[in-house]
Amino acid sequence: MAKLYFRYGAMNSGKSTALLQAAYNYEERHQRVLIAKPRIDTKGNSAIVSRLGVERPVDFVIGQSDDVRTLFDSYRAKVRAETGSDVACLLIDEAQFLTVDQVDDLLRIAILDNIPVLAYGIRTDFQTIAFPGSRRLLEIAHNLEELKTICRCGRKAMFNARKADGRFIFDGDQVAIDGVDVTYESLCGTCYLSESGGMLAYGFNAPSAFLYTPDTDPDFS
Ligand SMILES: [Zn+2]
Repeated sequence: MAKLYFRYGAMNSGKSTALLQAAYNYEERHQRVLIAKPRIDTKGNSAIVSRLGVERPVDFVIGQSDDVRTLFDSYRAKVRAETGSDVACLLIDEAQFLTVDQVDDLLRIAILDNIPVLAYGIRTDFQTIAFPGSRRLLEIAHNLEELKTICRCGRKAMFNARKADGRFIFDGDQVAIDGVDVTYESLCGTCYLSESGGMLAYGFNAPSAFLYTPDTDPDFS
């Protein structure tokens, strides 16, 4: 049985580079892979871009309401028709932007279609809240691996702090709107708390589902 893998990390932890390396490893052995990513913006950027300068177009882009297993099936059939061989692996970049249903499809592809699925993504947003796709992957992936990067202080970076005009900002939408000029810096917990004045998600505009409500909390005593 094939497995679903989730390789997660802060921004700039080399996820796209790792994905392209994994694709290369398969292709070196003359195996065919399919690469996909969610459609995240209106620019229609359909390439995997590694910070090392390597770039490669994806085989297909996943729309917000697309059924990933159906989409995968059609591209798999195309590969079989063109090459006479099957797909060895499905690679997904920016997996944090998938919906819960789409991540569930990745598990179905691994288990029911017996194709390994390697999903790469960012664990949390700039307010330290898990992206929906990442949360689902953390819940159901067979295998989790953290890709590490270093904070400016030398510790391991955990969080993705958002910056605008050179200043850290802690309020706003989970995904910055097109045209709003923001950048991100990967920070360790210590540096994040120092920049945010000690606040984490609970202090910002977190969805109510994340808020601790003592009245409804079950009594574990
Ligand atoms: Zn730090």
